[in-house]
Amino acid sequence: MAEDTILIWNEDLCAGCGICERSCPTDPRAIVITGGRAAIDNDLCDGCGICIKECPVKALSFIVLA
Ligand code: SF4
Ligand code: SF4
Repeated sequence: MAEDTILIWNEDLCAGCGICERSCPTDPRAIVITGGRAAIDNDLCDGCGICIKECPVKALSFIVLA
C-alpha cells in the first residue's frame, strides 16, 4: 500500500473477535489478534480494506500520514 497510508487499530472499540485477522487475505496475515490486542504489520498490508469493512465495531481505519 502507499507508504504514507497506514492501518490503525482503536483499542477502546475493539471487541477482540478476530474477524479482521480471519478476513485478511495476505500470507502471512498483516493483522493478527493475540490476547485481545491487534498487531498490524503495515509492510504486509496490501490496503485492501477488507478488515475495515468486516470489523463489526469499526475499530480499524486507514490514516494518511502528513
Ligand atoms: S487492509 Fe487488507 S491486507 Fe491490510 S490488514 Fe486489512 S485485510 Fe489485511
Ligand atoms: S474485527 Fe474489529 S473488533 Fe474484531 S478483533 Fe478485529 S479490530 Fe477488534
